[in-house]
Amino acid sequence: MSQRPNLVRRTPFPDSVSRAVVTPLQPSVVYASPDPDALDDQYEGRAKGYTYGREGHPNADVLAQMIDRMEGGEGGIVTGSGMSAVTATILGLLSQGDHIVGADQLYGRSLRMMTQDLPRWGITSTLADPTDPRAMEAAITPATKMILVEVVSNPTLRIADMEGITRLAKDRGLILVVDNTFTTPYGYAAYEKGADIVIHSVTKLLAGHSDVTLGYVLARDPGRRKAIYDSVVTLGLTPSPWDCWMAERGLYSFDMRHARAQENAAALAETISAHPAVESVLYPGRADHPDHNRAAAVLDGQFGNMVSFRLHGGRAAAVALTRAAPQLAFAPTLGDVGTTLSHPASSSHRGLTEAGRARLGITEGFFRVSVGCEPIDLLRADFTAALDAVAALG
Ligand SMILES: *Cc1c(COP(=O)(O)O)cnc(C)c1O
Repeated sequence: MSQRPNLVRRTPFPDSVSRAVVTPLQPSVVYASPDPDALDDQYEGRAKGYTYGREGHPNADVLAQMIDRMEGGEGGIVTGSGMSAVTATILGLLSQGDHIVGADQLYGRSLRMMTQDLPRWGITSTLADPTDPRAMEAAITPATKMILVEVVSNPTLRIADMEGITRLAKDRGLILVVDNTFTTPYGYAAYEKGADIVIHSVTKLLAGHSDVTLGYVLARDPGRRKAIYDSVVTLGLTPSPWDCWMAERGLYSFDMRHARAQENAAALAETISAHPAVESVLYPGRADHPDHNRAAAVLDGQFGNMVSFRLHGGRAAAVALTRAAPQLAFAPTLGDVGTTLSHPASSSHRGLTEAGRARLGITEGFFRVSVGCEPIDLLRADFTAALDAVAALG
């Protein structure tokens, strides 16, 4: 060949009168505009168009619209992780001197951000028990701007008094931020029930397959939405198109996964509670759960896929359980399509002292189960065999 072909110029994408059924994955970071006037139109909002990947891209927007529909809102923003949604919300809306009231059993990294990171930037916080709105109210100071809560606490599955907290936030003019990860929009319609900001770790139940790390934040007020969006773009918290594409794919089966996992959780809670190796079971759908009545009202009968339980015996019992059931992934996450086990004393709550854990009711024999979509007979058999192995320790 006398002249080499030009491989640098991109070959045009083929035209097709038929359209792809599946959402195209669009990895382009840059978007070419026809001319500077057209770019002006884009930046001024007169024309819709993408410019640069960190500022947004179609796969993030498709995913955001799907979760918007689940929450009943619009204009949600997808971020690179659940923690980046928390970060963008707090740093986008609060300033030096502001104060947050947070629930005292928030996700571990959210707690760490409030107690260790935010103070370095001049934002302070007080933690209070969200099952008691009077305790939340007592934590409010003249500098308080925001309340951050999760509906179901980890790992003891206590239910926040959402009605009381929503009223409190409204009465005191505070921004109510609900991290709706554990409950999902189907377990608690956070936006419809009055949250100003709703956050999800999409990584968990929504994406559902433990193969992407993503977050989502929905703000009611357009000014706050813009502030959160700007902090996402400035801090570089934008998600990858591939992760968004995978999460979109996962969401198509969310309805079925949610119904199945929840049904399994209720059945498994009964199986576990009947076993002699088990000291107690924590499941909001059971009459013996400390917040059962509130759970029935707040969660509208959707008790979720999480079941916690305490074994008789200490670390040896916990080790025996995980070893006897290697098919149930002993992994520090939740919301996978398959059942996973978490042991807070050695993972999420290992930073606490034994006394600190005891105050929360977390013993060495404490497990939290994220119940998945396996056939229930298989799950029952797995847990019975694993609990038998614990009982055999004597
Ligand atoms: C996992 C989780 C987060 C953080 O989400 P990542 O996607 O891991 O960053 C925040 N809140 C809750 C309740 C979570 O379970």
